[in-house]
Amino acid sequence: MTYDVIIAGGGAAGFFAAIQIAQQDPSLHLVILEKGKDVLNKVRISGGGRCNVTHAEFIPNELARNYPRGERELRGPFHTFCSGDTVDFFEKRGVPLKTEEDGRMFPVSDSSESIINCFREECRKLGIEVITNCGVNQVLEFEKYWELDTAGGTFRSRKLLLATGSSQKVWRMLSKMGITIVDPVPSLFTFNIKDPRIQGLMGLSSFAGVRIPEAAIEAEGPVLITHWGLSGPAILRLSAWGARALNALNYHFKIHVNWMYPENRESCLELLREEMEANPKRTVFRSKTFDLPKRLWQSLVEASGIDRSLKWADLSRKQMNRLVDELTDCVMDVHGKSTFKEEFVTAGGIDLKEVDFKTFESRKFSGLYFAGEILNIDAITGGFNFQNAWTGAYIAAKAIAQAP
Ligand SMILES: Cc1cc2nc3c(=O)[nH]c(=O)nc-3n(C[C@H](O)[C@H](O)[C@H](O)COP(=O)(O)OP(=O)(O)OC[C@H]3O[C@@H](n4cnc5c(N)ncnc54)[C@H](O)[C@@H]3O)c2cc1C
Repeated sequence: MTYDVIIAGGGAAGFFAAIQIAQQDPSLHLVILEKGKDVLNKVRISGGGRCNVTHAEFIPNELARNYPRGERELRGPFHTFCSGDTVDFFEKRGVPLKTEEDGRMFPVSDSSESIINCFREECRKLGIEVITNCGVNQVLEFEKYWELDTAGGTFRSRKLLLATGSSQKVWRMLSKMGITIVDPVPSLFTFNIKDPRIQGLMGLSSFAGVRIPEAAIEAEGPVLITHWGLSGPAILRLSAWGARALNALNYHFKIHVNWMYPENRESCLELLREEMEANPKRTVFRSKTFDLPKRLWQSLVEASGIDRSLKWADLSRKQMNRLVDELTDCVMDVHGKSTFKEEFVTAGGIDLKEVDFKTFESRKFSGLYFAGEILNIDAITGGFNFQNAWTGAYIAAKAIAQAP
């Protein structure tokens, strides 16, 4: 079977690219080949079934700052197709989006099915062929075309777009062709911690500064205490920016939490002294908690070796210092990681140096394009991973449609 364009992978990037190509050049004969028996599976389960389509950050360079891998390379592409263009695309097709307080954007319907139906409807209108149960096993390059050996037979095309997500098998196949693959490691995970200071406090959340000196990374934001350890935006940010370094540490490291952030040791000491002077007769345990959840404050007071009945006036200098340590530099051992709400992405994939980001074409093979998670690009949680898929797919599609 011969086509002008073959798209391998019926996921977010594959569908978006197919629609863009068919719209820009309806004369092109194109097909989506999907390994599974169904398409768009990740879109369906994404965002807890609501699909966090993109993020309400409309300035290209600011948007790019959310990508631990790909920040530099995506700046240019975001100037061509940014989150505002994603909003436009869906709104024009009857799928309005809404913005949540933290900037995440979802379909107003709160259902990922709206996105899937939109793609299916566009494919139907544009006559895009989709073949399922058709995993690509091998890709061969001939002088003027690509030949694909698949579970559904042999396919040929002039242009080939690989949008197979984080498929290890495809990465191995590409590696054999001489394309450099950066080793995949997980990103977006929470930290497993067994520590008496947070035992029994699950559900509490506090704004904190967190850092992992062994990996030279730090972040700030809400930290959530869970049954297993620590989670929340600040922890997820560390897991994304430190994906590779934390993997190298085998997920065993020390995390330093400043529960008083943005205060530092000195300013925290000052606050405690003021409290001591203002309420000398109050017990430290039951004292004002400086924006900290009460039970967390009490746990840290006890961890500082301060008796529940001790009054501020009787607090020794040593105890005061210990309390400041617990509040601003609470060190905990992390032993392993857990998945965050089943959401995860893979850090790793096609080495970005081998991709021309004006076209998303391989620098090594002409007529071969990539989009989505197959590339060594990934982001923190918030809709950014899909935005990478939409942007890459749009630019690759434009290049394919305009190529001779
Ligand atoms: C549970 C979960 C929730 C998520 N929620 C969000 C969210 O709300 N917002 C967000 O921005 N990101 C989210 N993500 C990340 C997001 O889903 C991915 O970044 C995005 O799907 C990547 O798109 P893609 O098209 O590159 O890959 P995919 O969507 O993974 O699509 C790749 C497709 O290629 C197919 N394939 C693989 N190998 C072959 C082969 N050899 N031949 C043919 N086909 C093949 C696969 O079966 C798949 O259908 C979530 C991820 C998970 C796991």
